[in-house]
Amino acid sequence: ESSWEGVRAVVGGLGVSGFAAADTLQHLGASVVALDDGDDDALREKATLLEILGVDVRLGSGSTARLPEGDIDLVVTSPGWRPSTAILLEAAARDIPVWGEVELAWRLRGEGAAPWLAVTGTNGKTTTVQMLEAILRAEGLNALAVGNVGTPVLEAVMNPEPFDVLAVELSSYQLHWSSSISAEASAVLNLAPDHLDWHGGLDAYAADKGRIYDRTQLACVYNVQDAETERLVEEADVVEGCRAIGFTLGIPAPGMIGLVDDAIADRAYITGRLSSAAELGSIRDLAAADGELPAPHNVANALAAAALARAHGVAPRAVRDGLRSFTPDAHRIAEVARIGGVRWVDDSKATNTHAAQASLQSFEHVVWVAGGLAKGASFDELVIATRDRLRAAILVGRDRALVAEALARHAPDVPVVEVDTGETDPMDRVVEVAASLAREGDTVLLAPGAASMDQFRNYSARGDSFAAAVHRLRDRP
Ligand code: ADP
Repeated sequence: ESSWEGVRAVVGGLGVSGFAAADTLQHLGASVVALDDGDDDALREKATLLEILGVDVRLGSGSTARLPEGDIDLVVTSPGWRPSTAILLEAAARDIPVWGEVELAWRLRGEGAAPWLAVTGTNGKTTTVQMLEAILRAEGLNALAVGNVGTPVLEAVMNPEPFDVLAVELSSYQLHWSSSISAEASAVLNLAPDHLDWHGGLDAYAADKGRIYDRTQLACVYNVQDAETERLVEEADVVEGCRAIGFTLGIPAPGMIGLVDDAIADRAYITGRLSSAAELGSIRDLAAADGELPAPHNVANALAAAALARAHGVAPRAVRDGLRSFTPDAHRIAEVARIGGVRWVDDSKATNTHAAQASLQSFEHVVWVAGGLAKGASFDELVIATRDRLRAAILVGRDRALVAEALARHAPDVPVVEVDTGETDPMDRVVEVAASLAREGDTVLLAPGAASMDQFRNYSARGDSFAAAVHRLRDRP
């Protein structure tokens, strides 16, 4: 006799999270209608599974134009749907609550369920929750990175074998549709313009990110070098006694976590003089196998992960051990090859200009491979901040002219080659041109600052194609 008996719920969008929501709600006794505009094989397979459970599935164009007839108690929306989607406007007009899958997961947690350590930000979310997962496991905890990173939060919450703690990656979309999450500790890593079309502007985007701090219990973690994140903490409505803990690539003030030379120093949980601040390891613990130091933005991600883990009570040495065991996900500053003194690096996941800027700032002399779908972003700031490092730029994709124009304005001396292959894969040509431009000691860096879908299935296909072309170059007789 679950309280969901008799509840009529509509699940919008049958992506990973929508599928989990429909499945879970139907299991709990609700009667579920699931809608998706698409109608391909993968969706039909999902539909068949859900129909066996008794879900009423409606696929194909037109099926999401209106809410189904009859009374509806709840709409669970896909994170991809804009708030201006017809169905969501209709729900608002009819006073039907709209939740995201993450909100649903929060509400379904039982007594004593795993606390959430929650992470958002424009860039670095996945890396940070994976570092956090590694640290929590080094402490011996049964921890999992969930959310936007892959496994839906709902799946982890409903897992028969409970977790000790969850490292939850939340996108701005997921936060937009959440209203009761109360994380044990939460972090906004950074804020830069992205997805403005969805949110309707920078203020709305920032406000949605800031929702992660609301109702936080123990610690709101912010980026000292990004004042906007601290402002969001100040405006948040937190549980009494919750602390604000800054992380910084500089020397930490009391109450913060930062760096003293190469050492990660905790002055938030270990008080006293700086010399006695606990060492949570060193940035060398994050170093790649070849001894290359980590990119500064990944050090920042590690500091944020350390702050969240310490809020959960993890010991300093587990932070160190966790960071040592951490391996970055594919396509995030991944070295592809070294050929004749030139490093080839795949950072295809740099899909916006803020990420590409951080990426470029991690290398001294760069042949930069960029372009794709710019999503309305401007490249001016990035070019101004990185022009001294640019040996040359190779531009691809639909919006490459935007990058070319910014380079012409602010870095007229940097050679630019535009590779125009229409909608087909440009990477063989890109690699050939890059090889001719790079000098010994340079890095050829794929950090597009743009989305990939004009020429590739997604960012991983783009990175794979780049790597394959580089390997063909290397293996050429
Ligand atoms: P997200 O999950 O937020 O997309 P990822 O960890 O997958 O973040 O990293 C995406 C890209 O963003 C990386 O490939 C890198 O170029 C860049 N990046 C990672 N961390 C940061 C950071 N803290 N600040 C700026 N850029 C970053």
